[in-house]
Amino acid sequence: MSGTEKLLYAFGSDQTDGNSSLTHLLGGKGANLAEMSNLGIPVPPGFTISTEVCIEYLQTEEISEPLWKKILTGIRRLETLMDMKFGGGEKPLLLSVRSGARTSMPGMMDTVLNLGMNDQTVQAVAKQTKNARFAYDSYRRFIQMFGNVVLGIQSFHFERKLEEMKASKGVSEDVDLKDDDLFELIAQYKNIVTENFGKSFPDDPEQQLKLAIEAVFKSWNNERAFAYRRIYNIPDEWGTAVNVQCMVFGNMGDDCGTGVAFSRNPSTGEKELYGEVLFNAQGEDVVAGVRTPEKITALNDKMPDCYANFVEISEKLEKHYQDMQDMEFTIQNGMLFMLQTRNAKRTGVSAIRVAVEMVREGLIDKETALMKVDADLLDQLLFPMIDPDQKLDIIAEGLAASPGGAVGKIVFTAAAAEAQAALGEKVILVRQETSPEDIGGMKVSEGILTARGGLTSHAAVVARQMGKCCVAGCSSLDVKEDEQVIEIDGTIFSAGEWISLDGNNGLVISGEKKLKMPDLENNQDYIQFMNWADEVRTLGVRANADTKEDSLAALKFGCEGIGLCRTEHMFFEGDRINYIRAMILANGEEERKKALDYLLPIQKGDFIEIFEIMKDRPVTIRLLDPPLHEFLPKTEKDIAETAQVLVKDVSMVAKSTEDHKEQNPMLGHRGCRLAITFPEISRMQVRAIIEAACHMKKQGVDVLPEIMIPLTSGVKEWEFNHDIAHEVAKEVMEEQKIQVHYLVGTMVEIPRTCLLAEEISKEAEFFSFGTNDLTQLTYGLSRDDAGKFLPEYLEKGLIAHDPFVAIDRDGVGEMVKIGVERGRKSRKNLEVGICGEHGGEPSSVEFCHTIKMDYVSCAPYRAPIARLAAAQATLTHGEYEKLGDHHIVGKQTNLTL
Ligand code: PEP
Ligand code: MG
Repeated sequence: MSGTEKLLYAFGSDQTDGNSSLTHLLGGKGANLAEMSNLGIPVPPGFTISTEVCIEYLQTEEISEPLWKKILTGIRRLETLMDMKFGGGEKPLLLSVRSGARTSMPGMMDTVLNLGMNDQTVQAVAKQTKNARFAYDSYRRFIQMFGNVVLGIQSFHFERKLEEMKASKGVSEDVDLKDDDLFELIAQYKNIVTENFGKSFPDDPEQQLKLAIEAVFKSWNNERAFAYRRIYNIPDEWGTAVNVQCMVFGNMGDDCGTGVAFSRNPSTGEKELYGEVLFNAQGEDVVAGVRTPEKITALNDKMPDCYANFVEISEKLEKHYQDMQDMEFTIQNGMLFMLQTRNAKRTGVSAIRVAVEMVREGLIDKETALMKVDADLLDQLLFPMIDPDQKLDIIAEGLAASPGGAVGKIVFTAAAAEAQAALGEKVILVRQETSPEDIGGMKVSEGILTARGGLTSHAAVVARQMGKCCVAGCSSLDVKEDEQVIEIDGTIFSAGEWISLDGNNGLVISGEKKLKMPDLENNQDYIQFMNWADEVRTLGVRANADTKEDSLAALKFGCEGIGLCRTEHMFFEGDRINYIRAMILANGEEERKKALDYLLPIQKGDFIEIFEIMKDRPVTIRLLDPPLHEFLPKTEKDIAETAQVLVKDVSMVAKSTEDHKEQNPMLGHRGCRLAITFPEISRMQVRAIIEAACHMKKQGVDVLPEIMIPLTSGVKEWEFNHDIAHEVAKEVMEEQKIQVHYLVGTMVEIPRTCLLAEEISKEAEFFSFGTNDLTQLTYGLSRDDAGKFLPEYLEKGLIAHDPFVAIDRDGVGEMVKIGVERGRKSRKNLEVGICGEHGGEPSSVEFCHTIKMDYVSCAPYRAPIARLAAAQATLTHGEYEKLGDHHIVGKQTNLTL
């Protein structure tokens, strides 16, 4: 920091320095508190210490003199404003110290409430509020929170004392403890601090404040925050802001309360105020899911003025931010204060509905709506739900906290979930309530079930964000983690037993139930939204589809063609493998040709099936790619059977199988190298493609086959393969006495191909970047082995993304760029696409747009994500003219979804 930046930003009715555009400095919470202040919405006053200060603190580990002076000046301002005194007087000022990163990281970092309490101020608070119980309870909570967050003492020490106190007084609820009981607890809590911390509890409020600020800064680097950042790709160097704010109390009596509410329903998108309130309680009680709150409408029944005020604020905020808001509030003696507002996390269904309805309401335009939906969220709309057409044995009902369906075996801890998921098991994480430590286990679970907590509890919020099904607050569940069982109305369900969750209706169902896909065909909002995306996008979207079923799915999900048909998959069907094996094990060319002759009509039939579905849309068919040993028998038994079927000697089959094994098959005899040794394989495949195309043309359909040579690495090799394709095509068309339109091009999967692109594109009519192999070869990272060690790179912050998921723009991306530029030098209308897994990943799609590709190709179910990401890329970077031969601008008319 140069020293010129502002360290502290005030907010409140007297002075507000920040606004919502300063999230990078003030964090989401601080920026929005400032914005609400600017809008005249009541927020408890305070100040935000910037994220830059946090980063500096994490390096120096000390609060500098000038910063501390500014903090104390900030406190003096609050004292004047509130007519209270920090650490003394008749009206002691109490503070909250909260974290607040640029993006919300729910529950991942620390917060301290009621700061400023000590043996003197607690008495003054008791006197001032005429509520000793409240004062003692606040002090007790403060010691626990401070002890845990700042001094690192585990919470169970305090919780155990509280339970013992309740047991000794014969009460079950905290609220039934008397003033004296709480007073005694305070002494016990202080002893816990002395015993565990080795020093007495810090009484000096200024010291408390300094320690709390430091603890919040440090919490940026705690384990769970770190894990969260890895999952959501949040850079480590952002840091957290710290908000120091006057306390308001929702637990001072019956005219007090606290709650969380959304301006619309975050699960369904319905326009209704959706949330919860807890009367006479502190905010953390709601978020932690410790008590199950009431619906927000209860506020209307109990305090109608407050409710009306809240509705008005909610509408104002939604209009102002042009987005659904997630708000926290506290009511102190009938006065409403807003503690937080932010754009709400939502499910895919909700995101689409809110975006479309906001356009209809005139709140936003279509372009804004398209930019508002996180493309990855669309995945959820394609997620399964519990098939209602089956017998369901419902064992419990809870809250429908996050939609979809999930089926798995019961596990009771996040660690067990992670261990079992690593073994390939499907698990449902069942907890009394979840906490931020459970995040890793939640991520790998199929669904989450909790006994306590409401729709805004940790489990619910995190599950919705992850797009996982969650049933929360299922109070008939007795979760006995120690015994590894749940008891529901006397029936026991043990760890490892199958259960199913219906997150749309909040149901827990016994057994492993069938799931089915949601009915997108009738989701008009979705159809409308995707139409807007298609109107806008420049990039075409094709599918990686190998079968009739894939092709149907490709059309259903709005693809304009097939970008990659991997023909090898066709050879594993039925008894075809035997012909392939006969071809590989053939004794000489004649025998090989005979085997291929058997395969020709079968392969032609495959292509006709696909062409009949895709009609005049481009279909890119890749000639055989994998190393041949993949088709050969693996076990002795297999070898014996193969020998019998092919009427060959067992030892010959065994030897040949052995001979085909390679040390490094991915770099071995595969791709177009196969055709150098066995050109008749390519000949058969090209013949099958062109014969199928001729057949279709005779039926009146002009299909658009694109014959794709895999793994090209050099010019002469390319010419050899290219010549075969054209020769055979010509031969077939002459035989058939009909001309069909086709292209011959290559996959670009090797860096050398990118470098030689200018030469290769003289004859190649299209390039399709196979970024799976290209990543492997540019990065020198084995795509089969990287999964074992890449997670450590992510954990240690050495890479921001897995390069096999999101394209590595610096290296692989640069290579693609070189390939495109050089390729277009000698052929201006070279068609360029991508067909590696990256084709369905939003940031990679954006990259493809920036280098002006014609299309991206991805799995059919990823196509909606690619369509939206392509629209967003167009809105961000502008349109361009596509030059490829077969480009079909993304405006097909007869798409369903
Ligand atoms: C690729 O390498 O990106 C590709 C699509 O081919 P495959 O995954 O079949 O190797
Ligand atoms: Mg490949």
